[in-house]
Amino acid sequence: MRCLALAFTFTVALTGSQPAQPVADPLALINGNVVNVRDGHITPNATIVLRSGRIASIGSAAAPAGVKALDLKGKYVLPGLIDAHTHASDLAAFRRALESGVTTVRSAGVSHYVDVGFNELVKKGAVAGPNVVTAGYHVRPQIAPEAFLGDPQYADLLSGVTTIDKMRRAVQMNLSHGVDWIKILATERAGTADTDPRKQVYTEEEIRAIVQEAATKNVPVQAHAHGDEGAMAAVKAGVRSIEHGTYLSDATLREMKQRGTYLDPTYTTVIDLREAGGDYDLAALRIRGEHMLPRLRDTVIRAHELGVAIVTGGDTSYGPNSLTRIGQEMTHFVEIGFKPLEAIQAATIRNAEMLRLEKSIGSIESGFEADLIAVEKNPIDNITTVQDPLLVISNGRIALDRLEFGRKAGPL
Ligand SMILES: [Zn+2]
Repeated sequence: MRCLALAFTFTVALTGSQPAQPVADPLALINGNVVNVRDGHITPNATIVLRSGRIASIGSAAAPAGVKALDLKGKYVLPGLIDAHTHASDLAAFRRALESGVTTVRSAGVSHYVDVGFNELVKKGAVAGPNVVTAGYHVRPQIAPEAFLGDPQYADLLSGVTTIDKMRRAVQMNLSHGVDWIKILATERAGTADTDPRKQVYTEEEIRAIVQEAATKNVPVQAHAHGDEGAMAAVKAGVRSIEHGTYLSDATLREMKQRGTYLDPTYTTVIDLREAGGDYDLAALRIRGEHMLPRLRDTVIRAHELGVAIVTGGDTSYGPNSLTRIGQEMTHFVEIGFKPLEAIQAATIRNAEMLRLEKSIGSIESGFEADLIAVEKNPIDNITTVQDPLLVISNGRIALDRLEFGRKAGPL
């Protein structure tokens, strides 16, 4: 995986952090092989017309007269990828996500509501994307203290979010900033050396209060949970997704299947934990990664066999030293037994369903957002191709275009 990460380094160096150039509107994408992520069917030589940030049409007709055309030269077209778990927190980081083919991210906790602010920039057209499904501050016993610089009326939470009343107030604080999701800590973290990821943090009753408070604004809850007891409590309390899920038992997975709770295993980031470099680079965490990775691998395999809905999440900040990418997560899913189409769905339509955005993103259909990527090979036969997008379009704007490079390259 490390050598593949170099491709991203190259991509980022190539385009830097300049804003995406507005494209001709409408724009026709011609000669692409379009992947239907619902059934894996591929429409060859398709013409996709983009207009006002949406997919206006898709079919076999030639580009309408007078509409600028971009020749995809037989490349394969997929919906933009979805990252259900990011900690990206500055413009360059969001740009790196975009250039890796990710056109929608769900925040899993950041400071100063930069997820909300960045998404406003995307909505205004100041930057191409990715769109951000926001979550604000992670609700946990000790909320990051800078939260209260902007919200001094919640200063009572500085001493700890340890009662149900305070948990409800922590949710309210986030809701007042217009977040789309609430993120909670159901077990301790894995990425810090002095915490035990198996240890439960909040009880079922406490999490239920958080879920109910969020539901007053129709906002779902994502629960960070490695240990089984904390995860089961979160599932029974009604969270919509379990993040990580390393030590989940079959009983918890069956409960998730029955309730329709999503699993976002962030598998690739545990590989990062185990290896030198990347977001996590501590000897103690490398040792932890050695024993967590086989457990998480076993959990994902059992979850897949039991039919739990699984989505892709990076759990990365997309910082300059971050290695984890959604293309890698898809590749690893295939390595551990998913069909390539299932890995593609985890990053597209399944993820969109979890976000309750399946009517506007996650598939290439007329009326959907113009979020697309083009890759060199058929991803159904070569899943690794998704790690190297040659074209990224987000909200109808070209964010990355490498179609002209390597035209004469032969097969690998
Ligand atoms: Zn995280």
